[in-house]
Amino acid sequence: MQDDLIQRFHAALPEVVQWIDALLDEHRGRARAVSTLGCKRLPACFPPEILERARAVTVPRVPFPPIDRFGLPELAPVQQMSFAGITFKDTFFLLEDQASERLYFHELVHVVQWARLGVRNFLLAYGIGLIQFGYNQSPLEQLAYTLERRFEDGSPPKDLVRFIETRTDDVWAEVAPIIQAGDRSA
Ligand SMILES: [Zn+2]
Repeated sequence: MQDDLIQRFHAALPEVVQWIDALLDEHRGRARAVSTLGCKRLPACFPPEILERARAVTVPRVPFPPIDRFGLPELAPVQQMSFAGITFKDTFFLLEDQASERLYFHELVHVVQWARLGVRNFLLAYGIGLIQFGYNQSPLEQLAYTLERRFEDGSPPKDLVRFIETRTDDVWAEVAPIIQAGDRSA
C-alpha cells in the first residue's frame, strides 16, 4: 500500500469524525433505540444493553462521508454506491423500505466493531480494508455479511458479541502493521 495513503488517512480523520458527529447531532431527535423496534429474533443474539444503546434512523438516502473532499479520492467510487444501511458509532441509518431484522442485525455487528476498535481505529481499519479489498471483500464487511447469513440460517455463534470482538481484533492485527509502516515512512 502506498505510504502517503496512510498519511492522508490520518490527515482526513479529524474531518471525517467531525462530519460524523454533525450527522449524529442532526438526527439525534429521530434516532430510535433498537430495543423499541419490536424485533423478535435480535434479543436472542445481542444483550439488552447493546439493543438499548444502538440507535436506528430511517432516511430517504443513506449518508456517506464526502471522503474525496477530505483528500482520499481513492474512496470516491464507494461514495457513489447506494447502501441499504450504514453505521456510525452506535447509530445506523437505513432506508425505510429496507428495514428488517436482518439489516438491523448486520448493522449491529458494525456497532460492536465500532465499540471494540474505537472511532479512530474503526475508521482506519474500515478505510484501509475498502482500499485493499473493495467493499464486498473488506474484512469488517465480510464479517458482518457472514454473520448476517448465519443469522438468516438460524445459526449465529453462541456468544455473538465475543465472537465479533475476537474477529474484529484479528482484523485490527492485520491492519496495524500497515499503519505502522505508513507512519514510519512519514
Ligand atoms: Zn456493512
